[in-house]
Amino acid sequence: MENKKIIKSFSSGRCPICALLRQDEFDYLCEWVGVSDTKYRKTEKRIRLVKLKGFCNYHFWGFEGISRNDGSAEMCLELIEQLITFLRTNKSLVSATHKNHIACPVCSGLKEKQGEYLNTLVLSLGTIENRKKYAEGWGLCYPHLLKILGYVKDSSLREFLLDTELEQLKRVKSNAMELVRKKDAPLRWERTEDEKVSYFRAIEKLVGRQGALDG
Ligand SMILES: [Zn+2]
Ligand SMILES: [Zn+2]
Repeated sequence: MENKKIIKSFSSGRCPICALLRQDEFDYLCEWVGVSDTKYRKTEKRIRLVKLKGFCNYHFWGFEGISRNDGSAEMCLELIEQLITFLRTNKSLVSATHKNHIACPVCSGLKEKQGEYLNTLVLSLGTIENRKKYAEGWGLCYPHLLKILGYVKDSSLREFLLDTELEQLKRVKSNAMELVRKKDAPLRWERTEDEKVSYFRAIEKLVGRQGALDG
């Protein structure tokens, strides 16, 4: 279904799943900005958001970063009202151990997408041609490598993913070493494009994209 999209993201210069999720995350946030006007207050989407208790910390601030101030305020009104009602009626429940469960709709949307992408990636890597393209890219970040192993049934694909990851990690490492070695002038002018972005690739390899909680 998303096969072409996955193959295309092999050339994104980063973890193909992280690259796709980053775009989805931005699209989701834009959709929420799109319904942040007062006239959308009684829509299904907005009512659902209040039921879910709003966005997680990361996505609320992400939303704030691209929305108008009055749009941000509008999205908070009913959530604040809900919190006021809760505090008024459940004073005895409020304590240091009380958990305020927020079921962030952006997080859950991304989690679903992530499952679809991992599944499609496994199917795509069934051909030699696609494996070659994947190996030429930068491969999965370590969190996504671990996750995809839960979808892999074929032992040759497991071998391929692990061997390729090693080669890609070695490439990132040698680029990062060069970035450090060439930190002073005049060598710093000789840094390649891959070396210049190696710090970003190194961090993403280790922990996945920025803000990735589970997706
Ligand atoms: Zn990733
Ligand atoms: Zn979230």
